[in-house]
Amino acid sequence: MVRYVYEFTDGGRDMADLLGGKGANLAEMTRLGLPVPSGFTVTTEACRAFLASGSEPEGMLQEVSRHLSVLEKSAGRLLGQRDDPLLVSVRSGARFSMPGMMETVLDIGLNDESVLGLAKASGSDRFAWDSYRRLVQMFGSTVMGVDSALFDEAMTLLKETREAPDDLHLDANDLAWLVETYKRLIHDQTGQEFPQSPAEQLRLAILAVFRSWNGERARLYRRREHIPDDLGTAVTVQRMVYGNRGTDSGSGVAFTRDPATGRPGLYGDYLSNAQGEDVVAGIRNTVPLADLERLDADSYRRLLDHMGTLERHYRDLCDIEFTIERGTLWMLQTRVGKRTAEAAFAIAAELVDEGQITPEEALARVGGDGLARLMFPRFDTAVTGDALAHGLPASPGAAVGAAVFDSAEAVRRAAAGEKVVLVRQETTPDDLPGMVAAEAVLTSRGGKTSHAAVVARGMGKVCVCGAEELTVHTEARRFTTPDGTVVEQGTVISVDGSVGAVYAGEVPLVASAAMRYLETGEESDSVVAGVARALQHADSVRRLEVRANADTPEDAARARRFGAQGIGLCRTEHMFLGERRKLVERMILARTDAERDQALNALLPLQRQDFAGILEAMDGLPVTIRLLDPPLHEFLPDHTELAVRIAAAEARGEQPDPHDVELLDAVNRMHEENPMLGLRGVRLGLVVPGLVAMQVRAIAEAVVARMRAGGSPEAEIMVPLVGAVEELRLAREEVERVLAEVTAETGVPLHCPVGTMIELPRAALTAGRIAEEAEFFSFGTNDLTQTTWGFSRDDVEAAFFSAYLDKGIFATSPFETLDRDGVGRLIRIAVDEGRAARPDLKIGVCGEHGGDPESVHFFHAAGLDYVSCSPFRVPVARLEAGRAAL
Ligand code: ADP
Ligand code: MG
Ligand code: MG
Repeated sequence: MVRYVYEFTDGGRDMADLLGGKGANLAEMTRLGLPVPSGFTVTTEACRAFLASGSEPEGMLQEVSRHLSVLEKSAGRLLGQRDDPLLVSVRSGARFSMPGMMETVLDIGLNDESVLGLAKASGSDRFAWDSYRRLVQMFGSTVMGVDSALFDEAMTLLKETREAPDDLHLDANDLAWLVETYKRLIHDQTGQEFPQSPAEQLRLAILAVFRSWNGERARLYRRREHIPDDLGTAVTVQRMVYGNRGTDSGSGVAFTRDPATGRPGLYGDYLSNAQGEDVVAGIRNTVPLADLERLDADSYRRLLDHMGTLERHYRDLCDIEFTIERGTLWMLQTRVGKRTAEAAFAIAAELVDEGQITPEEALARVGGDGLARLMFPRFDTAVTGDALAHGLPASPGAAVGAAVFDSAEAVRRAAAGEKVVLVRQETTPDDLPGMVAAEAVLTSRGGKTSHAAVVARGMGKVCVCGAEELTVHTEARRFTTPDGTVVEQGTVISVDGSVGAVYAGEVPLVASAAMRYLETGEESDSVVAGVARALQHADSVRRLEVRANADTPEDAARARRFGAQGIGLCRTEHMFLGERRKLVERMILARTDAERDQALNALLPLQRQDFAGILEAMDGLPVTIRLLDPPLHEFLPDHTELAVRIAAAEARGEQPDPHDVELLDAVNRMHEENPMLGLRGVRLGLVVPGLVAMQVRAIAEAVVARMRAGGSPEAEIMVPLVGAVEELRLAREEVERVLAEVTAETGVPLHCPVGTMIELPRAALTAGRIAEEAEFFSFGTNDLTQTTWGFSRDDVEAAFFSAYLDKGIFATSPFETLDRDGVGRLIRIAVDEGRAARPDLKIGVCGEHGGDPESVHFFHAAGLDYVSCSPFRVPVARLEAGRAAL
C-alpha cells in the first residue's frame, strides 16, 4: 500500500523528493524543536498520480482525513467547527523552490457560521472577517479560477469609498461587506457558490494545488530554470496561526545573510497585523527586520536564536518565513536560500572561514554560470551623474533598456530584439514572462524579499526594488521622479542592481571587480576574495587541464592571465583575412604551380610572424595550431557584390574590371550547395598543392626562430575534419616531410606532435584506426554536433530551435550544452578506442562546449585530458573542472 501522507514528525530534509522542499524543511524544523504549527504533507507521488489520471489516487483522501483527525485532536477543535474553529492552510511545495509560482490557500475552514465562532472566540470581529475575506478571495481565484484582479478591484473600490489608505483602515463591517461582494463575484463568474463545507474546501484546495503544478507561470518558470516537468508538487496542510490578529501580531520574511551581497547579518522585512503574502505583495510598506526589536523584543530575540540554529544546522544561508500571533513566534518555512552569484562566492568563503564548511563544500556551492555573470562589465560610476532614483540593490549587475510598464509590452519588444527594463509598482507572479524578457526589473515598492527581488535573483536578472522616490503610473505608462522628471515608455534607462540606482539614458560600462581580479590579481572585496579562493581550490583539485581558443598574441596573453595552460585551438583562417585576402585570392586564381607558389610564398612570412607571436605569448605551454579549415571560396568576394559591380560597369558602357570577371568566374566554379560538408578541412590540404606545406613551414620556422631567441615553443599541428585514417596519413606525411626539410635547413631538430580533430561521426567510430596516425585527438564538438544531428547550426537555431525547446525535444540547445546521449556517446567510443590503440593519446575538446559548465562535467567523466574554450570562459572552465573533480 503506497503511503501518501506524512506528519511533520515523520519527515525530514532528505525527503524533499517526496515532500517537496517546503514539507521536508517544515518536518526538519519540527524535529529541531522549533515552533512550527503542526501539520502534514501529501506527497508529490500523489500529485503525479492525480495529474496522470485526473482523479485523486485511491486511499489518498481517507489518509488525509485520518491525519486531519490527528490534527484536530491535538488542537482540541474540529476543522471549521461553529465555535472556535480550527483553520488550516493548504500550501504548495515542490522539490525545487518555485517562489510564488504555484498556489497556497490560507484560512480554510471558515464559512458563514464559523466566522462568527472565530469572532467570538478571538474577541475580534475584524480579525475574523479579515480572515474570511482572505479565504474567499484566495479560494475564489486559486480553486475556482476567478481572475484575481476582480477581487482587487472590489477591494480598491471599497478603500476609495471608505477613504481608507490601506486595508487596516477597513473595519469588520467593511470586511463582511467585502466577503458578500466576493461571494457574489464568484457566483457571477462561475455560476457556483463558494463552498461552505470545510471538508469540501480542503479537498478542492488540495486538488487545486496539484493542478497549479501545470499552471502557465509554473511551466514557464520551470523551463527557464531547467526544472523537470514531471516532478509534481507536494501539498502541506498546516494549522493556521494568525499574523492578522492585531498590532501585536504580524508576518515576516528573513535571511540569515544578505542574499544580494552575501554580507553577514540579518536581513528581512516585517509587516505587523498582516497575513501570508502581504509581506511580499507590497500592499503596505514593510519595516526592516531590525525594527522588530522595538516592536516585540522577545519574539525578535527568539527569531535570531532560531535563525542561528537553522544556519548552523543547514550550514548555509537560510531564508525564513515567520508569523507572530499575539507575541508568540511561529516558524512557517525555511530553506537554503537563493542568492546572487556575488553572494554565493562571498558566503562560501566566509563559511569556510567560520569553520562551518570545507573548501570542497564551498567549491560545490559556487558555479561557472555565476562566475561568468560576475565577469560582465559594470557601469562606470565616474560618469554616471545624478541618479533618477535610488532603491534597494536587490540583484546586482548593470542593465540598459527601454522602460516598459507591463509584462506583455516587455515580451513584445524583447521579441523584436529591443532591450527593455520592466518598471512596476511591484511585480506579481503574472509578470513572470515580462521579467524573463527584460534586462532588468525596477519596482517602486517592496523590500529585498519582495516577489520582484526573489524572482530576479533566482534568474540572475538585474533588479532594483523599493525605489520609493519613483511614482509609477502603470496605466499612463510612465514614471515620475520628485524633481519632476517624466520617463515615458520607450525611454532608455540604466539600472544598477549592485548599488540600487537608476539613471537616465545609457551609462557606459567598465570592467567588473571580478574581471579586474582575473586581469591583475587585485582582490578588492569579499566577493572577489571568494572568487579567488574558489578558483585556487578548483585548480588544486581538478584533473582536466584548461586551454584557450586563441588566434592572436593578445588573446593568447589574456587567456594566460586568466589561467589557460596552453592553446587548444589556434584557427589559422583568421590570419588569411584583411589585407592578406588579396594573396589568398591570388593563390586561388593561380593557373600554374609557379603562380600558386608565388602567392603561397608571399603568405609564408606573414604566417610565420603570426605563429611566432602566439608561441611567444604561450612560451613553455602547448599551442595547437589547426591547419586551414574553411572552404576557400569563403575568402573570395561575395557573388552578388561582384555581379553588381560588373553589371554597373557594363551599364555605364565601360569594360568591367577583368579581375572582377575572373573572380566571378572562380566564385561560380567553386560554389557549393553545402559548404559545411564540402571541400574543407583536410580535404583542402589534399587537393590544393602546397597549402599544407606552406602552413607547416610557417609553423616550423616560427618554432626555430623562437628557439633561437631562447624560448620554449611547443607547437602541435592539428588536422581538421578527418573522416578516414588514410586522409590523416597523407596529411601527416606531408607535415613530416616539411618538418624534416626545415630541420635539414636549420640544423634544429623539430618535433611537433601531429594530431587530428574528431568532428565527424566516422572519425569517432573509427577512432582506433585514426589513433594509429594521431598523437592527439581534439573533439570539435561544434561540427560533431552538426554532423551527428544533421543540423546546420547557422540555419536551424533561428528556424525551429525554440519550437523544439517548447516541445521538450531538448532542454537546452545541443550547441550550448553537449548532447550526452548522442554526441557524448560518440566521444566515449572515440576515447575508449583511441586510447586502446595508443595509450598515451592526449585527448581534449575545443568546441564551444569546452566552456559550458555542464559539458565540462561530462568531459571530466569521459576521461579527457583538457578542455579548450574562449579566453573569457577559461576561468569558468577552471572552476567547473574543479567542481567536476569533487
Ligand atoms: P509560497 O510558496 O508562495 O511562499 P507559502 O505556502 O509559503 O507559499 O504560503 C505563503 C504564506 O502564507 C507564508 O509565507 C505564510 O506567511 C502564510 N502561511 C502559510 N501557511 C500558514 C499557516 N499555517 N499559518 C499562518 N500563515 C501561513
Ligand atoms: Mg505564494
Ligand atoms: Mg513561502
